[in-house]
Amino acid sequence: MKVFTAMNEHNHEEIVFCNDRDTGLRAIIAIHDTTLGPALGGTRMWPYKSEEEALHDVLRLARGMTYKSAAAGLNFGGGKAVIIGDPHRDKNEMLFRAFGRFVQGFSGRFITGEDVGVEVKDMEWVRMETPWVLGISEALGGSGDPSPVTARGVYFGLKAASEAAFDTPSLKGRKVAIQGAGHVGYYLADLLHREGATLFVSDIRSERVNRCVEEFGATAVPPDKIYDVDADIFSPCALGAIINDETIPRLKVKVIAGGANNQLADEQKHGRILMEKRILYAPDYVINAGGLINVANEIEGYHRDKALKEAEGIYGVLKQVILIAHKENIPTCEASNRLAEQRLAQVTKLKRMHVLSRPRQIRGERYAW
Ligand code: NAD
Repeated sequence: MKVFTAMNEHNHEEIVFCNDRDTGLRAIIAIHDTTLGPALGGTRMWPYKSEEEALHDVLRLARGMTYKSAAAGLNFGGGKAVIIGDPHRDKNEMLFRAFGRFVQGFSGRFITGEDVGVEVKDMEWVRMETPWVLGISEALGGSGDPSPVTARGVYFGLKAASEAAFDTPSLKGRKVAIQGAGHVGYYLADLLHREGATLFVSDIRSERVNRCVEEFGATAVPPDKIYDVDADIFSPCALGAIINDETIPRLKVKVIAGGANNQLADEQKHGRILMEKRILYAPDYVINAGGLINVANEIEGYHRDKALKEAEGIYGVLKQVILIAHKENIPTCEASNRLAEQRLAQVTKLKRMHVLSRPRQIRGERYAW
């Protein structure tokens, strides 16, 4: 892969290849855009088949973070890191500490946290070498499990989508089919049940479905049948790429709104098909931004109530996205990209005015920013 050609395609700012023979660390940190602030994005550990595959993934994920932060109205840029390795076999303290030293080399221009294959324990090793880590445990002054905040954001996103599709933000009596009753799915089911929604829940782990049946009176649905449920809203809270050529014709819902990442198998194609079928799709990175809002709150000292309140703002963001989509006659996934690009352009203009940079703090300690 030609690295500069790949960076130029979406104008990535910087890539750092991290190599440490002693610990076996091979990682790539990519920074896409820091117009809005320091690049914020998780670290993924994955047994990539090739260096090209790892590079391609980190560039794609870093760019996704720029859009997610911008659309959520946060002052963070987009970045991401990948560690090449098997998370079940290759983890050890020194590897993550070596990675932490590379993160420290960015002096706060890149801030990271957990992603696929990386757990709180691993990030606590990274934290030994750098303060620029978010999403650490509550015991260490971090924000802990983000899923209640993510679920709150998804819930308010469902309200905004309902208002557009059913003329009311109320979810009372609404039939919602939830795919995945894990962290986000369970908390979402709880909020929906409290408002009087009728729930259909599927999960490949039956104990997770049973919990929703017992606590919220949900109807259990086999995993492969969730697309066929005669519901108002489909809420994907498990896997990516579940909105595709095979599943779209089966859907009976008017709204797709859930917490899972990368829901559309092909963003352009399936975004357009959903628009033509008049199924309102809540873009995933807009509606599941609660997790990001949660860790962003850790910077200045974490308060869960503040994070929950901010996640409710997803209601307003999604309404804006729906408005843009309607006015421009474009799919909602395209409208959210426009909203993010608008914010980037506005802040770029603002930055023409010269001001002295101010010191910032992370968990109480002050740093130049
Ligand atoms: P989780 O692992 O706790 O829950 C996912 C659930 O989906 C599990 O219970 C799993 O058994 C189930 N599942 C897997 N395959 C399934 C299938 N084919 N059919 C039905 N269920 C299936 O994960 P989570 O933290 O709840 O995250 C869910 C999704 O939301 C993921 O895509 C994640 O990337 C995204 N997300 C999560 C957060 C967060 O704060 N946790 C934030 C943003 C985005």
